[in-house]
Formats: sequence, structure tokens, C-alpha cells
Amino acid sequence: MSVDFPSYRGQMEYRCLGCGRRYPGDSLLYTCPDCGGVFLLQDVRFDSLKEHDGAWWRDLFDKRLMSRTTALRGVFTYYELMAPMLEEEDIVYLGEAHTPVVAASGALQDKVGCAFAFKNDGQNPSASFKDRGMACAFSYLKWLCRTRQWDEILTVCASTGDTSAAAALYAAYVGKPLKSVVLLPHGKVTPQQLAQPLGSGATVLELPGVFDDCMKVVEILAEKYRVALLNSKNSWRILGQESFAYETAQWFGWDVANLCLFVPVGNSGNITAIMSGFLKMKELGIITALPRIFGVQSEHADPVYRYYSAPRDKRVWEPVTVRPSVAQAAMIGNPVSFPRVRELAERFVSEAGERSFQIVQVTEQQIMDAMIQANRHGHIVCTQGGESLAGLLNARALGLIGEGEYAVLDSTAHQIKFSGFQNMYFSNTFPPEYEVTPDMNLANRPELLLPASAREGVSVAEFARKGAQAVVERLNLSSK
Ligand SMILES: *Cc1c(COP(=O)(O)O)cnc(C)c1O
Ligand SMILES: [Zn+2]
Repeated sequence: MSVDFPSYRGQMEYRCLGCGRRYPGDSLLYTCPDCGGVFLLQDVRFDSLKEHDGAWWRDLFDKRLMSRTTALRGVFTYYELMAPMLEEEDIVYLGEAHTPVVAASGALQDKVGCAFAFKNDGQNPSASFKDRGMACAFSYLKWLCRTRQWDEILTVCASTGDTSAAAALYAAYVGKPLKSVVLLPHGKVTPQQLAQPLGSGATVLELPGVFDDCMKVVEILAEKYRVALLNSKNSWRILGQESFAYETAQWFGWDVANLCLFVPVGNSGNITAIMSGFLKMKELGIITALPRIFGVQSEHADPVYRYYSAPRDKRVWEPVTVRPSVAQAAMIGNPVSFPRVRELAERFVSEAGERSFQIVQVTEQQIMDAMIQANRHGHIVCTQGGESLAGLLNARALGLIGEGEYAVLDSTAHQIKFSGFQNMYFSNTFPPEYEVTPDMNLANRPELLLPASAREGVSVAEFARKGAQAVVERLNLSSK
């Protein structure tokens, strides 16, 4: 066995979740031309991978972690499970994936009352998990451009912030023939998230309304014009995001039987990908038991929670009108990937029982309190990571977590992308619609020790003495 670029080539097909029709994977399709359903991609030759047993695959993937071939360092560490018709030259690698699993600090675990860790997906290049999907989708686009000799292609996405940051970054890196356009709901992404596509040189277009509205616009563009859509209707992104499952399994020595994964749910692509990844590993014998998956939704944007909270025979799918949420990246009332969730959740529970897939609901207050608490204990979680932690707290309160289970919380983006919400918490300035009342004991603010005039007309040495004196008085320092 070597860590050379693999020789296996699969054959990818789109499978429609609406009518079951299949379409070859060598052209860009988003929804079924026949029934409008969403797709999942499948390797027609997947069964031939079963020639090797689970131990062989585990060994191969472990060896690849030592490879210096960058094409095998990111999501394509799991090449055969990803998009195995790509050649090495197609693969785009910006350092995404293999994000750290960081055990919650001892004090935080004590507070929460169980053992858990964060998987810090904010440590991806554009600071969210969206890079996983983009690495795969852009590699596929490069393959298309190469094999079709396309000379120009516009990449387009609507976004709650992180998708556009990731899409603009990868498009800027690949360069010609790609050009990136992002469509954002005006005033509904954080200043940090807005700065990202601007910095990457994308054309940034804003429309009034919320994400769901922008998504409708992008759908019309994708249907009628020659553009590459990078929203999660693009199934190649789902493939890339499966890497989260592969890495989690690998980190825990390929034994995930006692894991409970907590995943914030917005457009539902991430939770789809994670379930799909675990199911593939199970099929190949790479893992022998599935973990439990907990999706988490805010009560301000909870269509998936509402669906699954009804008894099985009473479930009806209904989009909701969202209300403002601090988990802004998951503030979606009509998730594109819901049919994918339904399909994969069904497969999950049929293999591992009803308790293997659940959705929990949290309040905005719980999300904010959880994020602030986590970060005060040395973590770097975003509001959606706070949502994961709030989900764990509620799941524990509902008695859903057993002794000996270990929770892995997906912190989907970096803390600094959502520092505006931290500011609102610390300064008690949340608009009332958010329904968040800060715990002012947790508020933290800079303190100006000397007025600006203290620096004027004095030497550096004199200022240093004054400054030091002010610090000594503030901290009550005793001399040594
Ligand atoms: C996109 C996003 C989500 C929601 O993921 P879905 O795949 O849309 O369910 C959650 N958190 C962050 C930080 C995101 O960027
Ligand atoms: Zn169809």
C-alpha cells in the first residue's frame, strides 16, 4: 500500500430523491430536470470498494495523513469516498479539513455535567466548515473546465455569509476561467463575513429580504443562464462535507459507537453530509456501529425540529418564516436539503434505531449563554457552536444522553466571525426581537486607564511611568 495518488476511478451519478431518476455526473445539475427534486451523488462502482475490508481502508486513510501530496491532505484524504473521477491536477487544496477535536476544558465539562469536545471547523481557511464542500465543488469545476475546455464560467451563490466567503476564496485561488459572484441579503450577514468575499475580489451583490429570498433569485439564474451554482443544491458540496464524518471517526480510532454528534441545522446540508459519510463508512466496514446524530435548531428558525417533533405518522413538511437569530448562519426557514435529511435520517434510524437521529430545539438566550460560557473556557466557538452546546445541555436535561456517551460538538465557524453578537451581549444592546437578556456578570469590556491627553507633551519614559502606575493601581499589584 502506498500513499501515492490513487489509481481507483469511480463513476459518479446524480440520483434524484424525488423520482429516483439517475443522471451522469459529468455535467452540472442542481435539481432533477424531470421532477425538480434534489440530488445525492453516488459512485456507481462503490460496491467494488468492498473488495477491501474495513481494516484495509482504515490503514490507507491513516497512512494518507502522512502524505506530502497536497491533493490527499484535505477532504481528498478520503478520495475514493469523495469524487473519485478527479485527477490530481484538478484538486484544489487550501489547507481545509482535519480540524482539531478539542476536549472541553475541565471546568466547562463539570458545568455541563458530561464529557464532550468541540470539533473546531472554524479553523478552516475561510473560518467555517463551508470550505470542505467548496474544496470538492471547485475541484469538480476545475475538472469540468479542463475536460470541457470552458474558457469562462461565473460561480454564483446566495449566502447567509459563510458560503459566499468560502466560494469567493476558492474562486479567487483557482482564478481563470472562474469568476465569483455572491448574492447576500442586505444587512443580514456580519461585517466580518461581508469583508471576506470583498477581500477575495468577488462581485458582491445585495438584495433586500432574507436568505430564502436570495436563494430563489439564484435558482432562476441557475436555471436560465450559464452559471455554476455553489449553494447546497450543488451536490458536490455535500460530498466534500462528508469529510467531517470521516475525520471524526478517524480521530476516535474509527470507533464511534459511543459518540453523540451535535450539529447546528440551517439549510441542512451539513447534517446530510455527516449522516451520509457515516453510512458510507459503515457500508465498507470502516466503522462497525453508527454514532448518534443530534441536529440543533433555534426556536426562531426550526422547520426541521417541528417536522421531527411530531409522531412519525403525523409528520408534515412545512417551511417556517424565520425570526432574527444569533445563529444567523442557520437562520433558514425553507432548507434546500430537507429531502436529503429525510432520506438519510430514515436510513440512519433503520440501521441504528430511533435514538440515532434526533433534533433538539434551543432558545436564542441559550445559544448566546452557551457561546459566551464556552469561549470564557478557552474555546473559539461561533454562535452556531454555541447552538451545538445549548443542544447538548437540552438533550441532557431531556435525559437523551446516556452514561458513557461522549459528545462531539460541531463548532461550524470561528468565534471572530460573530463577534458582533458578543458585543451586543456584553453591552446589553440586543434588539428586542432576538429575545436575549445578557447575564451582565459575564460582560467584559475594555477599560481606558488614562485620557488621550495623558500622552500629549510628555516623553516616552514619563508616559511609561504614568501608564505603569495606572495599571498598578487598577490591578492592585504588590511589588516583588
Ligand atoms: C452554513 C452554516 C450552518 C448551517 O449549515 P447547513 O448545512 O446550512 O445546515 C451552520 N453554521 C455555520 C457557521 C454555517 O456557515
Ligand atoms: Zn426527479
